[in-house]
Amino acid sequence: MDKIEQQLVQYVDEHKDDFIKFLGDLVKVPSITGYEKKAQEFVRDKIAGLGFETELKEADVKKMFEMFPEVAQVPSIGEEGLDMPLMTEDKFTYEQLMASPFDRLKSYKDRPNLIGRLKGKGGGKSLILNGHIDTVPIGDESKWHVDPFGAEIKDGKLYGRGAVDMKGGVAAMVSAVETLTALKVPLSGDLMLQTVVNEEHAGGGALGIVADGYTADAAIVTEPAGPGGNVILDGNGGGVYWEVRIKGHETHAGSRWQNNKPFGISAIEKAALVVDSLISLEKGLNKDKTMMSLCIGTIKGGTYATATAAECVINGVAYFSPGLGTGKEGIMRVKKMLKDAALNIDDEWLKANPPVIKFQHYDDAYMLPSDKQEIKTLTEDAIRDVLGKEPVITQLGGGCDARHFGNQGGIPVIVYGPGDIKMAHSTDEYISLDDYIKGIKVLAVTIYRWCK
Ligand SMILES: [Zn+2]
Repeated sequence: MDKIEQQLVQYVDEHKDDFIKFLGDLVKVPSITGYEKKAQEFVRDKIAGLGFETELKEADVKKMFEMFPEVAQVPSIGEEGLDMPLMTEDKFTYEQLMASPFDRLKSYKDRPNLIGRLKGKGGGKSLILNGHIDTVPIGDESKWHVDPFGAEIKDGKLYGRGAVDMKGGVAAMVSAVETLTALKVPLSGDLMLQTVVNEEHAGGGALGIVADGYTADAAIVTEPAGPGGNVILDGNGGGVYWEVRIKGHETHAGSRWQNNKPFGISAIEKAALVVDSLISLEKGLNKDKTMMSLCIGTIKGGTYATATAAECVINGVAYFSPGLGTGKEGIMRVKKMLKDAALNIDDEWLKANPPVIKFQHYDDAYMLPSDKQEIKTLTEDAIRDVLGKEPVITQLGGGCDARHFGNQGGIPVIVYGPGDIKMAHSTDEYISLDDYIKGIKVLAVTIYRWCK
């Protein structure tokens, strides 16, 4: 490490308490999906104080659907009934959204993204640092052992909703930049710091930023990549949310058999065949490597114990590896696989009464292209130099906003941020403060090396 890099690391060590306090203050501003504005203003004020030119801008839902019809999602709000309420035959359209009764989901009104710019001297490479400000709801508050918005610190862990997913990452990237500005380290390239709304369930904040044309030579999304500070994610899996509706023939139990043939057909017994077929698809794909995680989420059907069920509805999600395809190609491929598995079943009843499969929502998978590895190798070197550890490269199982920068924006992007993703969305969510401080150090050195 050169002299400036050593000073950056030393500054972080000397200002640990301030950086931890900033994270705690951010956790204390609730920002559940749908209610992000206050926290956005809090971060805006902070980075404006660091010299950033700032802008609070609402994502344009119509524009997203026009530019990226395959991946644009309905804005969501993290409360019951407003999380993915639309279910259409296939990908829903902007027109269907506008015609729906969900007025609060038709725009990002009062839910702005924050874009901050710090101009470089010129001649250097530009970088986007991105994190989402929204968090999932707290769930059953009585199960928490701490105040979900209290930012309590115990045994080197800071607790609260969003502590690890991902106010830790947001505070780490802000603190890394603060380290650079406090030491007046000159950068040649422009730095853009973004905090976005609605990453949870939809990804509409980040997609709105990409649709608005904000770009850079590379991007780092500071989601929790893994414990220890040495994990980088260079890809993420996709997800297809599905529903299968199966018909039966309702009769009294006493009339189920007529002339030695079943007459009353329970949709539930046929649903079992559909589940079987979907699980066989998953098993077949995962022979050598996990390519798909197919979750049967809910099953509903039947009215009485004494009547064959007229209908049964199953729904769930298929998460899939980028190995099955990135961007919209992966989504289309997985949808076709699910459709084939649900519809091509060797059963007389199901052939005559084919199930109906619908898709509710999907996320595209992403993989950093092999010819655009520079931001990854630079971060790997920073991990080695700052932490003295070998970096671990892996991919995130589910979706995250990196996909929009990579697939829709064409920007090489990695995920590197502090904390263990396993604690995300859980009761008593926390972040290890040791991971947090390590993340700030590695980010500060990485930003410096990229933009200098
Ligand atoms: Zn997250």
